[in-house]
Amino acid sequence: MVPTMCISCNGALDGSLEHVFPQALGGTKKSRDLYCSACNVRLGAEIDAPFTKDFEFATTALNVKRDRGAPPVLKATTTKGTRIYLGPGGVPSMHAPTSTIIEAPDGTRQVVIKVPADRPEQHEHMLAKTAKELGIDAAALPLASISFKIASAGTVNGEMAAGGPQQARAVAKIALGFLALEIGDEVFTEPYATLRLAVTHGGDARAWLNRPFRQLVAPILPLTDGVQHRVIIYTTMNQTWAYVEVYGVYGYGVLLAETVDARFASPYVWAQNPTTGASGEGRASGTPLPTPVCKAATPTQEDHRELLTTMYRVAFEIAYESTIDEEVAIAFAQLGEGDPRDPAFLGELHRRITERLDALQDRRVVNLSRPVASKDVLDRIRQALRALPQRNKRRDAEDGD
Ligand SMILES: [Zn+2]
Repeated sequence: MVPTMCISCNGALDGSLEHVFPQALGGTKKSRDLYCSACNVRLGAEIDAPFTKDFEFATTALNVKRDRGAPPVLKATTTKGTRIYLGPGGVPSMHAPTSTIIEAPDGTRQVVIKVPADRPEQHEHMLAKTAKELGIDAAALPLASISFKIASAGTVNGEMAAGGPQQARAVAKIALGFLALEIGDEVFTEPYATLRLAVTHGGDARAWLNRPFRQLVAPILPLTDGVQHRVIIYTTMNQTWAYVEVYGVYGYGVLLAETVDARFASPYVWAQNPTTGASGEGRASGTPLPTPVCKAATPTQEDHRELLTTMYRVAFEIAYESTIDEEVAIAFAQLGEGDPRDPAFLGELHRRITERLDALQDRRVVNLSRPVASKDVLDRIRQALRALPQRNKRRDAEDGD
């Protein structure tokens, strides 16, 4: 059962596609039966955009699936004050390639070029740029060595916002969308008038704020069973509630109506893993219901713990994977054609990988450089490293929607 008019302005529907849970947070449930184009555009800019911005750090760190493109690469700062980029999955990378010219006392000059490990080709551009600065031909700069350096992602400063009338309106909009798709045109009846007004005219927050039980309640119920979004619509003794959960950590209670809607005696439940995009919905009589809390709560650092722990784990696992990829690329690039993969070689590879993974555990910046003097070996390392992101992109495409 779906509404036959725009649930914001009561105007005619014109096929505008609404993501009921914002797609930038991974939401996959869509409908063309909720808002007209004008309301969809207006409410998207007023409500969805600032709401998803509040969770941008988590969206990127968790590599949340979305309909179009990857989560944004964010500028971040480590706790030591280093500026870095934080890519999808929490993968840190250098802010920009750098080139430093070092003058030795004997008059010789050394050029140190640093590029992100996943963008080795930037090295060529930096080499040309530096040669130009020095007023010499790039080919005249002898390539002496290359070092690999990776950093752990455990100590990046992240910002998230939770609470306030703006988020209350966004959460109410999510709840209203799910409700409307369940009850259709009855969403236009009196019990839900206040909710629709609050979503449509959130700019005038007085009616909303004068009723403390309608305020955002976050968090009600920090979970420990992994990262997910969830929406539950249910009745209590004399009220109808929605519970909207973001990233499995923030729970927001929304009072839908001060009357019982018998259709939700058996709760409607929608749940989704935002990183895989997998979702499920239905009526689940056994669903444990969160307790509505009738006052606003101020989230604390402690409330973020579960989310930050999850983000760290994801970033750490990816750092592990990329460490192994890099080390294997280096090791095999250094083997000559037809070299036997003898036990000593495999033992050395195993030792170096173990050393780098142990260093990651320390959460410190790791520099396990091994200078490579041969241009030929260097080329082969670069080729092997270039192939890695390609392979990862293919894997992502296969997983995609
Ligand atoms: Zn409208």
